[in-house]
Amino acid sequence: MGRGWGMRLGWRRGLVFTAPPQGAPQAPTAPKVDLEKCVGCGECARTCPFGAIQIRDGKAVVNETLCRGCGACVSACPTGAIS
Ligand code: SF4
Ligand code: SF4
Repeated sequence: MGRGWGMRLGWRRGLVFTAPPQGAPQAPTAPKVDLEKCVGCGECARTCPFGAIQIRDGKAVVNETLCRGCGACVSACPTGAIS
């Protein structure tokens, strides 16, 4: 009985140590916008589930703090401006 508890505690401790620190950047793979190809259609901004894209001066701008790197905008862009 006691042995089982000990194993469970050890397993939990492992999880705590491998968890990322709070406040760490969330977007290691934020997409890049090719401003030459972007036509400002806003399709990427509508598609992003995290509200991480805005259209400014007719071009898409990615907020790297909000971006989770899901890649939805890359597929949505009709001109291939996001990679
Ligand atoms: S990769 Fe995902 S979260 Fe990041 S800007 Fe594109 S759609 Fe939004
Ligand atoms: S979907 Fe593509 S072309 Fe349209 S605003 Fe976004 S990056 Fe620009």
